[in-house]
Amino acid sequence: MRTKIVAGNWKMNTLPAEGVELARQIAADRNSVNPDVKLIVCPPFTHLCGVIEALKGTDIEVGAQNCAAEAAGAYTGEVSAAMLAALGCRYVILGHSERRQYYGETSESLRPKMAQAFANNLRPIFCVGENLAEREAGKHLEVVKRQIEEVIFTLTPEEFSKVVIAYEPVWAIGTGKTATADQAQEIHAHIRTILREKFGEVANETTILYGGSCKPANAPELFAKEDVDGGLIGGAALKAPDFLGIVEGFPKK
Ligand code: PEP
Repeated sequence: MRTKIVAGNWKMNTLPAEGVELARQIAADRNSVNPDVKLIVCPPFTHLCGVIEALKGTDIEVGAQNCAAEAAGAYTGEVSAAMLAALGCRYVILGHSERRQYYGETSESLRPKMAQAFANNLRPIFCVGENLAEREAGKHLEVVKRQIEEVIFTLTPEEFSKVVIAYEPVWAIGTGKTATADQAQEIHAHIRTILREKFGEVANETTILYGGSCKPANAPELFAKEDVDGGLIGGAALKAPDFLGIVEGFPKK
């Protein structure tokens, strides 16, 4: 059985006290939703201490939205994976399309970030996805394959076993346009096939999340698909009832 995950990417939203309050609200109602689904929140760096403190004693894990490619040293403005791990982070989002698009992240710059994550026991939530032009040109399968090959194929089997993949079509992020469940399933199955060809049957255990305007209303259709193991949630992760409502989207046993 693959781990089902709903992860919230708060991006650059909320002030620290608001983030702590959001975490408290999620924790307060966590027991009203499926306990088998792992919940992760990824607040801005400035909120991590407070959010980790607020979630102590709960099963909700905390992740960061980025980490440095270097271990330590004269890298003004950067935050290392070791610092995040020392605070109590367990996950780190890497390769988000906003970081690729606005901050020039590439497969090349992501590889050392992945290495830093593993060296510090952080599990990467590695994002892939095509933009609108690539989708319209029918290149989505090829683009995602390349993104996976250039980074994930460089991992050892042990490292690979710790990775969560998030498929996030860029045209669906924050746009209100969701991939249809069939579009999501097509790519998720494609990703799993690529991973299986490289790493073998262990790829059947890899959690592959969908991200892109996922909400309580469309989560059930998406999560009903065989290879969709949960969601990486942006906008809807900023309201506790919506975030928890998405968790309710998994098929009932
Ligand atoms: C994201 O950026 O990871 C995301 C999925 O955003 P949204 O849910 O707002 O589309």
